Amino acid sequence: MLCAEDESSLLVIVVDVNPIWWGQQAQREPEFTLSKCLDAVMVMGNSHMAMTRANKLAVIASHCQDSHFLYPCKSWHAGDSYGEEASSSGDGKYELLSVANNLIAEKIIKVMSKTEMRAYSTDTLLAGSLAKALCYIHRVTKELGVGQEIKSRILVIKAADDCALQYMNFMNVIFAAQKQNILIDACVLDSDSGLLQQACDITGGLYLKVPQKVALAQYLLWVFLPDLEQRSQLVLPPPVHVDYRAACFCHRNLIEIGYVCSVCLSIFCNFSPICTTCETAFKIQLPQMVKAKKKKHKPT
Ligand SMILES: [Zn+2]
Ligand SMILES: [Zn+2]
Repeated sequence: MLCAEDESSLLVIVVDVNPIWWGQQAQREPEFTLSKCLDAVMVMGNSHMAMTRANKLAVIASHCQDSHFLYPCKSWHAGDSYGEEASSSGDGKYELLSVANNLIAEKIIKVMSKTEMRAYSTDTLLAGSLAKALCYIHRVTKELGVGQEIKSRILVIKAADDCALQYMNFMNVIFAAQKQNILIDACVLDSDSGLLQQACDITGGLYLKVPQKVALAQYLLWVFLPDLEQRSQLVLPPPVHVDYRAACFCHRNLIEIGYVCSVCLSIFCNFSPICTTCETAFKIQLPQMVKAKKKKHKPT
């Protein structure tokens, strides 16, 4: 039982705050808006931190061109008006939870109001946010004292559609996570995400498309709050069929059969004698066959 007390866990929640998707969503379903979604994220985060004192939380908002840490953030570490404010609230609530909730609420307002949209990029920068999450986990792990251990996982709350342009970056992030034994869980609000299905399958995480968005907090608590060991004792939603098609590097289309560069493993939907990624020139037998045919044809 001693080890159970020393064991801590870091949960990084990546929330897709794509303003275009959330704008449309507010019109489709006024009862489930971005603020409702963030309420659910706070419930999940608070529950995680309340499980053990040593548990850590980070929340990253994934926007169109950038990603932002909602919690923890510099202003809290540095000086902290937030901390004092929260501790003086005096309602008997665990101080850390009020601090976290206040920070998340303040930070998301800043993020959503300041970012001006550029018309050419309307996709969520999910690969970038995941990379940020991995870097943060790496830092927290390095800052631990001798003998301390922390288990880390990432939960993605995904709203907008996949972006095939990010395929390569996304896969690199997934393999980096797999190498460091970091689970990636995905809670999908809208259309299924092939990229996240692969991420969950490769890293051993859970993928769930929520049947009812308004019940997000319940799905988060029932399905995603338990860690890997606890999950083996639960009856969770069955695994989904994973779409393992890769996107070609030339057009970012999903393809079933394609050409693979034998040097750098880039995937192409059309044959090209020189790999555009690593510039390897392939020696092919095709020209010789053409020559042979020509010779045959000349005498006749
Ligand atoms: Zn292509
Ligand atoms: Zn290549």
